[in-house]
Amino acid sequence: INYQTAKFITSAPDISKLPDDTGIEIAFAGRSNAGKSSALNTLTRQNSLARTSKTPGRTQLINVFELDSGQRLIDLPGYGFAKVPLAVKEKWQQSLSEYLQRRDSLKGLVVLMDIRHPFKETDQELIYWAVSCEIPVLALLTKADKLKQGARMNMVLKARQAAIAFNGDVTVEAFSSLKRFGVDNVENVLNQWFNN
Ligand code: GDP
Repeated sequence: INYQTAKFITSAPDISKLPDDTGIEIAFAGRSNAGKSSALNTLTRQNSLARTSKTPGRTQLINVFELDSGQRLIDLPGYGFAKVPLAVKEKWQQSLSEYLQRRDSLKGLVVLMDIRHPFKETDQELIYWAVSCEIPVLALLTKADKLKQGARMNMVLKARQAAIAFNGDVTVEAFSSLKRFGVDNVENVLNQWFNN
């Protein structure tokens, strides 16, 4: 699959406004600032496909990118802003769990987490939801360039141990947009999901 062909299709205010639930889509989620936009840009080799460094707390949209016919990448709003009102958080959780449960075309979820502090509470919740919906998860440990090789390997091994507790299809890989490593691993996992 050629990720470079990704093009922006639409921004949806909520899941009910997403394109028709046909074909195959893979969603990207993570705490804000986890490096999700950078990862999407790295994967697609497009510097400005997903916008980086958004203003925290702003109303966020679901961005939809299309690869080939009926293959989509879904950029979900970042979560974890301290200042977001509880009601907004609850609405977000509600719509996200609905999305995971009801979206037939959703064949995989990439959860992006800073390698220095992975599996925060909301990350874990999200992964549990996905596993309970039998959606495979790629736990992507971002900004891996921030750690030296030994520490990085250690974190990956620890995260793989931790991932066993989810009792589902959860793959853990390290990734760096800055140094462009881990891209092949991401492509391999996504290719499997698209081609299954
Ligand atoms: P998003 O909010 O999850 O979309 O995160 P962004 O992609 O906007 O990245 C948040 C911040 O992390 C920005 O300052 C990026 O420059 C930085 N960042 C993203 N990816 C990497 C990476 O691979 N390595 C390093 N060192 N910094 C990164």
